[in-house]
Amino acid sequence: MAASQEKDAQRFRYNNRRFERMPGMSLLLDAYALVDCGVAESIALQKEPPACGPGCCYCCIQPIPATPLEILALRLFAELELPPSRRDALKAAFALFHRERTTLGGACPFLLEGCCGAYPVRPIACRRYVVFGQPCKAGEDATQTRPADVLHPRQDAMQAALRLTLPWYRERYTLPEHITAEEAQAFFRGVTTVLQAVPWASYA
Ligand code: SF4
Ligand code: SF4
Repeated sequence: MAASQEKDAQRFRYNNRRFERMPGMSLLLDAYALVDCGVAESIALQKEPPACGPGCCYCCIQPIPATPLEILALRLFAELELPPSRRDALKAAFALFHRERTTLGGACPFLLEGCCGAYPVRPIACRRYVVFGQPCKAGEDATQTRPADVLHPRQDAMQAALRLTLPWYRERYTLPEHITAEEAQAFFRGVTTVLQAVPWASYA
């Protein structure tokens, strides 16, 4: 972890102590810091900067995979960290999402006015999805249309980050004390859902 990145991670923790004290959140923040560092290292190896930028959000309008702990983090973040006005906007988005959801390919309910309403705790899938060349077009899944433009961060780093969260799962799922990297990968694949399949309206 580069010194500046470590400082950024620490700064985030400092500003969110209430969040970090909730069960599993410290583990998840460690995992996110690892992912962010892995992604930053992979970006640094590229010849050009990413096409991603503020207000660019077509990637949030497609199925977003997330683990149970990541989903819990989004819920807690909305409850603990968002100011009332943003929370109301999110509740309205949840209700709209519930009424209008017809496909898992709809927008993520945390997408508020073109920005992520839970950016500091967005799932790993969001953190690692970086596109080069040109910004995605509406409805474009760059992994299909131009996979060479999509960042491929080191898989071992991504999996290592997920494994940091295993202690939280051990308290809730039947898991052996020792688990291989392959078994952990299979476990996380089994518990992963997509954000659009979560009953957000019932949490509002
Ligand atoms: S992944 Fe595509 S849509 Fe998302 S921020 Fe990057 S360029 Fe924009
Ligand atoms: S959590 Fe944020 S970054 Fe991820 S899909 Fe939803 S709005 Fe986009």
